[in-house]
Amino acid sequence: MSNKGLIIEQRSRDIGDFLVGRYLPFRKKRMVGPFIFIDHMGPSSIQPGSYLDVGQHPHIGLSTLTYLFEGQIHHKDSLGSDQIITPGSVNWMTAGKGVTHTERTPAQLRDGKTYPLHGFQIWIALPNHLENMEPEFHHFDKDELPNWEENGLQFRLVAGEGYHQKSPVPVHSNLFMLEIKSVQDTLLEIQDQVKGEIGICIIKGSINACGQRISEGNMIVSKTEDTCKVEVSNHTHLLLFGGEPFQEKRHIFWNFVSSSPQTIAQAKTDWKNKKFPKVPVDDSYINLPE
Ligand code: MN
Repeated sequence: MSNKGLIIEQRSRDIGDFLVGRYLPFRKKRMVGPFIFIDHMGPSSIQPGSYLDVGQHPHIGLSTLTYLFEGQIHHKDSLGSDQIITPGSVNWMTAGKGVTHTERTPAQLRDGKTYPLHGFQIWIALPNHLENMEPEFHHFDKDELPNWEENGLQFRLVAGEGYHQKSPVPVHSNLFMLEIKSVQDTLLEIQDQVKGEIGICIIKGSINACGQRISEGNMIVSKTEDTCKVEVSNHTHLLLFGGEPFQEKRHIFWNFVSSSPQTIAQAKTDWKNKKFPKVPVDDSYINLPE
């Protein structure tokens, strides 16, 4: 990382029944490239009585990226998508001018047993000219994502471009997101492999970047890809992400992201007045927070 690498510790946030570790937004660093929101879910246990049930809620101006290491989440949205996500697969929903979705523990896992849940819930802001696009949903199975092993590191390119590979996820700006696991003490090469701002979340294990040791539950951010050496300890699990930042500022309120405060104000009114599209056969409704 550059010598100015900023270290951010994940902060506990209660999202209904579930505690998450929030990395972004952070007051000193609102975004990393186009990434505007990063929640680390778990690792934890989903038990009878605390199964995940996030009812209908809207989004605008962003794409959501759900990526799991353990467990399953059932996604349904107002486009009619109905998809269970499993570890290593990607759910990519672009909200554009407006979409509504639900996220729940799948019915077949509501059998009284306890299940693990571990993964990331991520929002990526849309570029200005696409903020009002029609919503889309795409799912990619684990096997469809580029993966390779090099220098004691196992890579999986979840989204975007990096390391001379391209993910099939239809992203809307220059970005990258990779899951990396080490099988020995080694070096992670970053320079010339990805472009833009960089964040590294340490899910497990530790790294040493420019003489700073960064351990589990922390993220390091660099404003450029001109990085110094990143030493990775054996059995370390990382999320490497980032990309080119936008020129204009993004506003964020609840589940809404926009370069325009008026667009956010309109989305609030529309959600209150139930003007958003609805998820089929679902009566849930999450109120707009005050
Ligand atoms: Mn959502």
